[in-house]
Amino acid sequence: MDFNLTDIQQDFLKLAHDFGEKKLAPTITERDHKGIYDKDLIDELLSLGITGAYFEEKYGGSGDDGGDVLSYILAVEELAKYDAGVAITLSATVSLCANPIWQFGTEAQKEKFLVPLVEGTKLGAFGLTEPNAGTDASGQQTVAVKNDDGTYTLNGSKIFITNGGAADIYIIFAMTDKSKGNHGITASSSKTACLASLSVRKKTRWASILRRPWNSYSRTSKFRLKTCSAKKAKASRSL
Ligand SMILES: Cc1cc2nc3c(=O)[nH]c(=O)nc-3n(C[C@H](O)[C@H](O)[C@H](O)COP(=O)(O)OP(=O)(O)OC[C@H]3O[C@@H](n4cnc5c(N)ncnc54)[C@H](O)[C@@H]3O)c2cc1C
Repeated sequence: MDFNLTDIQQDFLKLAHDFGEKKLAPTITERDHKGIYDKDLIDELLSLGITGAYFEEKYGGSGDDGGDVLSYILAVEELAKYDAGVAITLSATVSLCANPIWQFGTEAQKEKFLVPLVEGTKLGAFGLTEPNAGTDASGQQTVAVKNDDGTYTLNGSKIFITNGGAADIYIIFAMTDKSKGNHGITASSSKTACLASLSVRKKTRWASILRRPWNSYSRTSKFRLKTCSAKKAKASRSL
């Protein structure tokens, strides 16, 4: 078995290394001490193509050219050597937001949500954790109630959400059937899995962003979903 990195894996590693040397290292101390979230820096990072390392070309990625998950991992690991917060900003966008859409979304959802995440023009987030639901995700209290027109109304609170408040595209987990315990969480097991209703654009109707702590090691937010409206949607498959 050949354990050497392929050319494209080495390219991704070098891309991340050069970005770390030139863009992250010179400013990490100041950003850390002053708690600066540098949006221009994040935008530049997203434009490098790392977000698309393993997705197919039809979604804007390099997967058909030999890019793979290891290429992505190598790049994230390299970035984290310079700035763990910036690395998690990228990995939340790819692993937590783009990847579930890729795995479970319909083609229409992929076109709408996955492509901009892969191309690095949008930032993603994943809202699972709540004040009373961390490790035990079945303690979810956010609810998604289906309306007569097929849309859902979400109510609840989320905490520790990486890129929360900054992201353009969110996957939000919510209880659709409390009587089923963790099987009643829409994102985990029902047929309308992951994306059903729950890829909510930030601008739809966030009632209030309660707190926006900033720090250069990652930006996490606490927010409340208050009568947040989400469209009816399907998943291509369930877990
Ligand atoms: C920087 C950062 C970024 C984050 N980003 C996101 C994000 O983007 N989206 C999101 O949804 N969440 C995010 N989180 C939240 C993270 O996923 C939770 O912190 C995690 O799930 C743990 O939940 P908790 O903090 O409530 O700890 P708890 O669940 O209260 O756990 C506390 C401790 O108890 C232990 N423990 C818990 N249950 C058991 C058990 N049954 N047996 C043995 N030990 C147990 C745990 O291992 C842990 O050590 C982020 C957190 C941080 C710190």
